[in-house]
Amino acid sequence: KAKDAGRNTYLLYKQEWQQHQTDTLKLITDLRQAVREQQLELHYQPKYELSSGRLNGVEALLRWRHPELGWVGPQHFIPVAEETGLIDSLGLWVIRQACLQAVQWHQAGQSLVVAVNLSARQFRSGQLPEQVAAVLAETGLPAELLELELTESMLMDEQYQVQQQLTQLMATGVKLAIDDFGTGYSNLHYLSKFQAATLKIDQSFILQLNSSIRDQALVSGMIQLAHSLGLVVVAEGVELPEVASLLSQMQCDSAQGYLWSKPVTAEQLWQLLTPELIEKHS
Ligand code: C2E
Ligand code: MG
Ligand code: MG
Ligand code: MG
Repeated sequence: KAKDAGRNTYLLYKQEWQQHQTDTLKLITDLRQAVREQQLELHYQPKYELSSGRLNGVEALLRWRHPELGWVGPQHFIPVAEETGLIDSLGLWVIRQACLQAVQWHQAGQSLVVAVNLSARQFRSGQLPEQVAAVLAETGLPAELLELELTESMLMDEQYQVQQQLTQLMATGVKLAIDDFGTGYSNLHYLSKFQAATLKIDQSFILQLNSSIRDQALVSGMIQLAHSLGLVVVAEGVELPEVASLLSQMQCDSAQGYLWSKPVTAEQLWQLLTPELIEKHS
């Protein structure tokens, strides 16, 4: 009996595993098609300066309008794109798309910094700095209006000449941001080595900030550390007004979160930027 049970568990496991393989394969085929058939779209989440309430930048977040599944979030397909190497072309498409959009806003008189997320894998080919420079030249976006978001582990990477590529990227004039700060390496050496412009505190410290004295101590410390190194601090995942006012008290520079807005389409973002135009028309 025990042997049967073991065998059944194995069969079940095998079935699930096969299902998983089929799903992954389908996702890969679908994703290649998505790139060709323009099912991918960038949404933009606004960032606000806490002292003035001014919208001072956006983060570009990738979305997939799947023909059968509807909107699919990046956590479902970015890992697959990374494993298959598809992230190289996808990542470049994201940078280009974000720059084209930022140029439009810039020409319409709204100079917003647009932040783009990078995957570690995008440093493997060694082409990234040249590709970014080419996109800036092609789109005409002033380099300081593009910010690249990297995680702590990417800044620590000893492989693929990541350090050298980061130096080259900074030489083009783009800004670097450290994303999900506090969740990666505890080795802070990279903070003194790199002139990143922005430090983004991970949402896991922010979501419940009002109800955790320990998180408050940590976040306040991170803000002071970042400021003493000349970095601008952004808090991610602000959902509650109490959290926003705590962050203001702690001198945090900017914040993003559902309290103000979810990631929205470029058109919706334009409406957030120019509310007076909408009032006049309605
Ligand atoms: P991230 O860069 O840390 O982006 C912030 C995530 O938090 C986004 O999830 C955003 O929608 C979500 N968020 C924003 N405000 C709130 C809030 O108030 N509460 C909560 N609970 N969540 C909030 P999203 O869009 O699902 O993206 C997930 C991750 O996928 C991103 O995390 C980023 O690491 C990755 N990603 C997104 N777009 C790209 C891309 O174009 N390229 C690469 N390589 N990665 C991307
Ligand atoms: Mg990010
Ligand atoms: Mg983050
Ligand atoms: Mg992230």
